Amino acid sequence: MVHFSADGRPLPTPTPITAPYFDGLREHRLILQRCPRHGYFFYPRGRCPVCLGDDWEWGELSGKGTVYSFTVDRAGHDPALSSRIPFAIALVDLDEGPRLVGNMVDCDIADIAVGMAVEAAYEDVDDTTLLGFLPAT
Ligand SMILES: [Zn+2]
Repeated sequence: MVHFSADGRPLPTPTPITAPYFDGLREHRLILQRCPRHGYFFYPRGRCPVCLGDDWEWGELSGKGTVYSFTVDRAGHDPALSSRIPFAIALVDLDEGPRLVGNMVDCDIADIAVGMAVEAAYEDVDDTTLLGFLPAT
């Protein structure tokens, strides 16, 4: 489900299963589910995607990873985001395993590269915090 920020940006609406993830982001912490056999997984869901076990627990990750791939939006396909173009959207392989998507922030788009070391960035938007990534320090 989606709701909108005061400036019209689409924001996720937490569900009972995703609420701990979004609560963690609000505290500027990256919290994901971890299966005792298969490690961390994303997106939040009721069962491990590998073994379908439901004995997972929430755990905190470092937020560090590397860019697996990225794209740059120069067209502004969503009117709510057109004032932000160009912006880069990256797939990031976290050091702990899972691959997440997020906007690249606080960097020059020309400097973004596959394999680049990044760390989590937290953007507070109204009542929601969005996960992004910036170059690792
Ligand atoms: Zn599992």
